[in-house]
Amino acid sequence: MRTAKAAVYQAPNTPFVLKEFPLRPAKRGEVLVQVTMSTICRSDIHSYEGRRPNPCPGILGHEIIGIIEEMGEGIDKDMRGDALRVGDRVTWSEYFFDGQCYYREVLDMPQKCHGVRKYGHDLAETDPHLLGGFAEYCYILPGTWILKLPPELSDEEATPLNCGVATMVSVTQAAEIQMGDAVVIQGLGLLGLYGAAMAKARGARCVIGLDAVASRLKVAKKFGADHVIDVGALAAQSVIDEVRRLCRPDGADAVIEVCGVPEVIPQGLQMLRTGGRYVLGGLVNPDANVTIDANMLVKRWVTMRGIHNYHPRHLIQALDFVRSNRERFPFKEIVDSKFALKDLDAAFKKASERSVLRAAIVPDPTE
Ligand SMILES: [Zn+2]
Repeated sequence: MRTAKAAVYQAPNTPFVLKEFPLRPAKRGEVLVQVTMSTICRSDIHSYEGRRPNPCPGILGHEIIGIIEEMGEGIDKDMRGDALRVGDRVTWSEYFFDGQCYYREVLDMPQKCHGVRKYGHDLAETDPHLLGGFAEYCYILPGTWILKLPPELSDEEATPLNCGVATMVSVTQAAEIQMGDAVVIQGLGLLGLYGAAMAKARGARCVIGLDAVASRLKVAKKFGADHVIDVGALAAQSVIDEVRRLCRPDGADAVIEVCGVPEVIPQGLQMLRTGGRYVLGGLVNPDANVTIDANMLVKRWVTMRGIHNYHPRHLIQALDFVRSNRERFPFKEIVDSKFALKDLDAAFKKASERSVLRAAIVPDPTE
């Protein structure tokens, strides 16, 4: 029996353990992929640090791309209708659901189906074992949307598509960014950088990026941010005043939260103009409690929305956005560090302390 290595998450805050798992043939509706790159998403770090529930032992990682090694019966096309073959490089939806659910059939929210499962969120002990990114192989199970990658996209550009980038398509759509809008983005990690680029591409006249990490403020300018503000260097009220000064005549049309810090919400509300939109995308942990003056929502006609994950069409839009804007914005620079599978602990440490933007794991099949 062939086997494949995976870095197993045994318990929160303990070192990953390299283990071998059996590689069985792909069953009907399944695809077996050799992983070529996985990136560490902030939610992987939250899971690793025990701040959100995730089964142990498991294989983390859901921003994954790979090369098709084997296709089960019944699969011959990707979600766009293009032919799929062994040897194709593919991305796929971070979640899968094989069944019927009111949320998909009636409400067009397949990402919220009851019983939806996600890559990087399963027990490694049960078949097919390999359902996460930090491994040499991954099985794509029925109910997943698979998308073929064009050859011109580098692995660095392609890997974050199926979580971070597709989520930001969903978030910027929910923010209803119009031609000429002023948009504020709270948090300039991968989500915020893509958010800035998408806000520009959607017609924003002015994009203001907020963060406390100097390197992120600098790089945001390359992704469409017209202004950046170091929120660590200014008092909260001064940040609000500066945003309102930049967004004439009366504040931002849209504010997007992708920093994962609930305390920024009262400040974000004060940056909005009357009738503005506030979209929350980063608060993926439970207990993100915060006190707001709800009277502001009423008097200032604020629309507030939460967005979690994305519709399959957003994955196609994410790919096409990156493909057609890769000369305008240096997306490949976001994945700024690479690690071998055996060095996953070091990669998590760097990603956790934010000394890298997006850490990538590149399994070496010859190791
Ligand atoms: Zn993610």
